[in-house]
Amino acid sequence: DINKSEDIDGLIVQLPLPKHIDEQIITHSISYKKDVDGFHPINIGRMVLGLDCFLPATPFGIISLLDEYDINTSGKKCLVIGRSHIVGTPMSILMSRNTRIGNATVTLAHSRTKNLHLLTKDADIIIVAIGVPNFLKSNMIKKNVVIIDVGIHRLPSKITKSGYKLVGDVDFNSIKEKTSYITPVPGGVGPMTIACLLKNTLYSA
Ligand code: NAD
Repeated sequence: DINKSEDIDGLIVQLPLPKHIDEQIITHSISYKKDVDGFHPINIGRMVLGLDCFLPATPFGIISLLDEYDINTSGKKCLVIGRSHIVGTPMSILMSRNTRIGNATVTLAHSRTKNLHLLTKDADIIIVAIGVPNFLKSNMIKKNVVIIDVGIHRLPSKITKSGYKLVGDVDFNSIKEKTSYITPVPGGVGPMTIACLLKNTLYSA
């Protein structure tokens, strides 16, 4: 009904789904014209070909951040850590496209990558989306690197009123002085994802 409704411009399914539900059957049944999350094979295929499409919301948010802060990505060594369909893989494609934010030389690292620290030490831009709290440490990077932290984790804390604190995949406090730019968690990639989801919805409308 939502696919057909003329009053509704966007439809997303909040992932992950319970194990007994096939994620692909569900996400692929969303009309690609309303797929504001950008997960449908038609949108992914169009993104790879550089055609007009809904970009996946988190990578779209990251590209927008790099654009807004006028970060030069052309010819830079960009390391993407994590190869999920929703973040790492599309991110690696977008950073290697022939566009203003793009034209980077991209390496896509994942759980089977050997000697990751050699890649992190060599990178000019590091995008981390692995789901391991405080994974990237100061001794793994070179000076003045640009770091985008996609991870979000809720860790117990005795200091905060709520009893927990949010951290990313990057050990922010140990690393921040060594970087030229770094996104915080919370308040970095998360809000950009939401903004870009709404931007896609506006395009759809
Ligand atoms: P995922 O959990 O689906 O996959 C993790 C990926 O990381 C895999 O490709 C795996 O190979 C790789 N990986 C795991 N451990 C590794 C290691 N030690 N070294 C190298 N690679 C390793 O990934 P996801 O769905 O992209 O989520 C990653 C993190 O980003 C999670 O914390 C998630 O909550 C967060 N996230 C945030 C946003 C946002 O809007 N801020 C959006 C999506 C995901």
